[in-house]
Amino acid sequence: MDKQIIVLPGDGIGREIMGSAKLVLQSVASEYGHRFVFHEHLIGGAAIDAYGTPLPEETLDACMQADAVLLGAVGGPKWDQQPADKRPEAGLLGIRKAMGLFANLRPIKGFTSLLGASPLKQEVVSGSDMLIIRELTGGIYFGRPSERTDAGNAVVDTLFYERQEIERIVDKAFQSARLRNKHLTSVDKANVLESSRMWREIVKEKQKEYPDVTVDHLLVDAAAMKLITQPDQFDVIVTENMFGDILSDEASVLTGSLGMLPSASLRTDGVGMYEPVHGSAPDIAGKGIANPLGMILSAAMMLRYSFGLEQEAKEIEDAVDTVLEQSFRTADLAKEGDRVVTTNEMTERVIDNM
Ligand code: ATP
Ligand code: MG
Repeated sequence: MDKQIIVLPGDGIGREIMGSAKLVLQSVASEYGHRFVFHEHLIGGAAIDAYGTPLPEETLDACMQADAVLLGAVGGPKWDQQPADKRPEAGLLGIRKAMGLFANLRPIKGFTSLLGASPLKQEVVSGSDMLIIRELTGGIYFGRPSERTDAGNAVVDTLFYERQEIERIVDKAFQSARLRNKHLTSVDKANVLESSRMWREIVKEKQKEYPDVTVDHLLVDAAAMKLITQPDQFDVIVTENMFGDILSDEASVLTGSLGMLPSASLRTDGVGMYEPVHGSAPDIAGKGIANPLGMILSAAMMLRYSFGLEQEAKEIEDAVDTVLEQSFRTADLAKEGDRVVTTNEMTERVIDNM
């Protein structure tokens, strides 16, 4: 397989962890006879420094033609004083929007060897292995009007979805459920919201096209509770933008380690952007100690969801499992008795186990 991959290291630890992802992908390429060509571009603070804008034209052009984009992280204290549309984060939002990436996928997996890191009880967390799919480009975050009215004494936000926007995210969810354990939980607030009633209706319609997938409907308040009391009951969760924002952060507590979590933002044709859930970690940038596993697992997601290379993706994920079982830890996860390693050493360990 021959693929052009746009690489956006960004800021802070972004550059360090991106180096790790590239090495792992090169190793996969040579093992399986693929050819991955990396094209590096600037985004975020690094782009502000070089071009005066967080999303330069040439970066955007490159991404618009890409099969897949890998992103490290953007932002840092250096650019915190910029106005909102000139901040590093604006570059990220701009790309998601321009590329039309409407589906955000976050796998949440309680790695057996890391369970001690979660504030929740081990017996609760141990079975958790789910995929949260959040609608990313619609709903109340984007609906208009969104403003103060009545001379500042009233306020309105608008929750707006077109049928087609719900259908495409629900399709993505059913397809993803087929790649996993064929169990989908749709989360809504259908007892109160009209948008949720239409959401639920569409899920029921779509279900007929995917008879092999079992479906539950859960109200968001119940889902919030169940997520941390019975996480093993979930396989794939699909929900609208704001509910997904909240639930995916809640679910990240199950793993107890921000540095471990990957994510994907996709559209219908399989093109996607892949990035770790964590930020640029300016406090540890440049020290060579960042945890590269969230970035490496994001690269594995790219192989699975954009390139259809399931076996290669699994190989990376299994190698990460093995390395953790061997007690190798970067500083953010290390406890007494662990073997503390640098970013580069962790990367080598993963590659050795593939
Ligand atoms: P953002 O606003 O970009 O989300 P943030 O300030 O919310 O950033 P992070 O940049 O993710 O959060 O950092 C939060 C804490 O977690 C920091 O102390 C950081 O050092 C640590 N951290 C985040 N990612 C990693 C990683 N990959 N390896 C080690 N530590 C990390
Ligand atoms: Mg944050």
